[in-house]
Amino acid sequence: MKKKVLIIGCGFAGCFAGYFLSRHKKDVEVTVIDRKETFDFLPMLPDVVGRGIDPEFLAYPISALSSRLGFTFINDEVKSVDLNNNTVITSRSSLGYDYLLVSSGSETNFYGNDQMRKNSYKLDSVSDVKTITAAISRKKFDSYIIAGGGYTGVEIASGLRVLLNEKSLHKKIIIIERSASILGSLPEWMKEYALNNLKNNLGINIITDTTVDKAAEEKIVLSNGQMFDPAMLIWVAGVRTADFIQNLNVEKNPQGRVKVDEYLKIRGNCFITGDCAYVSHGNGFLRMAVQFAIYQSLTAASNIISSIRGGELRRYQPIDLGYIIPMANNRSCGQIIGVNVKGAAATASHFLMCIYRSLGLRNKLGVIKNLITPSRLPS
Ligand SMILES: Cc1cc2nc3c(=O)[nH]c(=O)nc-3n(C[C@H](O)[C@H](O)[C@H](O)COP(=O)(O)OP(=O)(O)OC[C@H]3O[C@@H](n4cnc5c(N)ncnc54)[C@H](O)[C@@H]3O)c2cc1C
Repeated sequence: MKKKVLIIGCGFAGCFAGYFLSRHKKDVEVTVIDRKETFDFLPMLPDVVGRGIDPEFLAYPISALSSRLGFTFINDEVKSVDLNNNTVITSRSSLGYDYLLVSSGSETNFYGNDQMRKNSYKLDSVSDVKTITAAISRKKFDSYIIAGGGYTGVEIASGLRVLLNEKSLHKKIIIIERSASILGSLPEWMKEYALNNLKNNLGINIITDTTVDKAAEEKIVLSNGQMFDPAMLIWVAGVRTADFIQNLNVEKNPQGRVKVDEYLKIRGNCFITGDCAYVSHGNGFLRMAVQFAIYQSLTAASNIISSIRGGELRRYQPIDLGYIIPMANNRSCGQIIGVNVKGAAATASHFLMCIYRSLGLRNKLGVIKNLITPSRLPS
């Protein structure tokens, strides 16, 4: 008798697990639940702003994936999981499972502040980035405030500058960072390189040791008393896991990522992968990244098949290929297999990874086309 495998989330992790399990149809019947209708290629969202990549090339219909790979797709939101009774409750129904793979990623953390949620723009999906570009075209902001000086904050700030330059709009762009420096724990040379590029080449202000305190429509007030009006607030000040994970009675880190064992499970029939898994590595834990989401899911999916067949489980052994902080004026920086890279070589590495990992030939070719000819014309 086939076992029922339920996958929550069809991002990088869920999609690759679905792909692996679809090759074992004799053993399993796979259902994937996602609250979105499309798989969204998140690493290129800032490139819609800075490079004129058409957002349509970053989305791939999950229904097309499900017919290609032969899994059932349910477009619904998971509200809770009952691990003791092997049941997932969605907004419309309740679903039983034999094996569960949770790969619901992460989302913007507003830290419970509804005022910020209501009066800011986030960057979690293709539809979010469309909202941002539409607002930039439609509204007249004097300043653009980016709350959060992590990878995404730096990337989107650089993209905004390139976009505003194309439109001949000489407006303020300011990154507000709560701690003493942007880019947190990255190597000093990288922070200096990025800081120099942002400040001196792109004319972006950086205010550290400061938070955004109030946001009322387009009026933004900082903890140091500075006020900007009318301003666009892009909130990239942290991420958390979905509510249903936050409510699980299991060990988690402050972002709500679930601590998993070396086989990526929290119990015999429940595996957790991607951004919502907290995986120990060396003296610390793995960061959120596409490469880890994909290989964790392939390992977990293979462990599901081994569990069904009574075989041995595989330990997850992460290989870190590195990371890039892409900046839209081509002065990116990062580290690839331990080697420091900067400038155009780093930018090229980002896009090579993105094109390689994009789903579908249409999307790959579309991104290449837009890198040569941006989808928007300078106005
Ligand atoms: C702007 C941005 C830029 C990034 N740049 C890079 C980069 O350059 N390189 C890199 O390696 N990583 C980058 N990342 C991180 C990378 O995108 C994530 O690590 C990766 O997407 C994690 O994959 P995942 O499958 O765990 O989660 P996701 O890709 O986020 O997928 C999770 C899926 O779960 C679904 N879901 C969530 N909650 C529910 C629910 N309750 N019910 C049903 N469905 C649900 C979501 O709709 C989504 O489809 C970036 C992320 C962002 C946001």
